[in-house]
Amino acid sequence: MTTHPFQLHGLPALSRSTVQRDELLRKDDRRLDELWRTGQVVLVDRQGRTPVRDGATGLATRPTATVADERPADAVLLGLDGDTSYWAVTAEEPMREGLIAPPGNSWGMATGGVSQAGEEWHDLRAVGDLLDDTAAGLFTTASGLTNWHGRARHCAKCGAAVLPVAAGWATHCTGCGREEYPRTDPAVICLVHDGAGVDGENVLLARQPIWPPHRYSVLAGFVETGESLEACVEREIAEEVGVPVSGIRYLGSQPWPFPRSIMIAFAAVADPDHPLVPADGEIEQARWYSRARVREAVAAGGQLPDLILPGPTSIAHQMLTAWAAA
Ligand SMILES: [Zn+2]
Repeated sequence: MTTHPFQLHGLPALSRSTVQRDELLRKDDRRLDELWRTGQVVLVDRQGRTPVRDGATGLATRPTATVADERPADAVLLGLDGDTSYWAVTAEEPMREGLIAPPGNSWGMATGGVSQAGEEWHDLRAVGDLLDDTAAGLFTTASGLTNWHGRARHCAKCGAAVLPVAAGWATHCTGCGREEYPRTDPAVICLVHDGAGVDGENVLLARQPIWPPHRYSVLAGFVETGESLEACVEREIAEEVGVPVSGIRYLGSQPWPFPRSIMIAFAAVADPDHPLVPADGEIEQARWYSRARVREAVAAGGQLPDLILPGPTSIAHQMLTAWAAA
């Protein structure tokens, strides 16, 4: 008999990281210029893809000298691994025609490309769980920062163009001098169970109308301004499926840079006899699944004919796997 509530099994895929962040270094231009000469570059294209190697366990980084002799103004310092500096640069490489499926099981929605040099390029959602700890952290940070720079080219206050500063960790407005920092939008994600015993015997899953058929996941939503995380969990679940929850408990978090979120995970309890009222247009269907059914889906690699679980890069996958094993 389990007496402790379930926890995530280790760090979520995109919460892994090994390089050192160094805020002071970002303002030391002389040192940055030196570090550039011996560094490695993570190229990210406008679709958020990077070249991978060794079955997508590592990133095919480039020596900085092959990218530029001097540190480019838009190069972002990701961090240091010993004496090696890692940088992100947005770049396009010629691709062959056609898209390819990523290695592993990534939910069947992400596709990659093959460069004319024969390298596979994949996005973070597709390969995040396959990458080693160093590569996962580098690509996650690179995705978030390149997304931000690609979408925030003008000052939010005066509308003038902005320029990257602090090794890509801030922008400076050319009009009013305002500084802006990379933005992260918090979102909650909650595994709702029926409260039987310690961890419940049934879990509430739902699907959005735009998802592939049979795909279900736990409920999630963005935190609103002026709202606590716990209040957001209560509100989102009430809005999405019309059910009140209690016993909200923190599980963990992971960055989700698509384009700029962090997912903050919780468990909560709801009455399985309470009527489910899916939100119009947002939730196509919501229903309770038994632990045995979810275990069966996990054992089948996340896919049964009528139940497809979230892909292994997502924290939702970690939550459901941990709950099913409890
Ligand atoms: Zn401005």
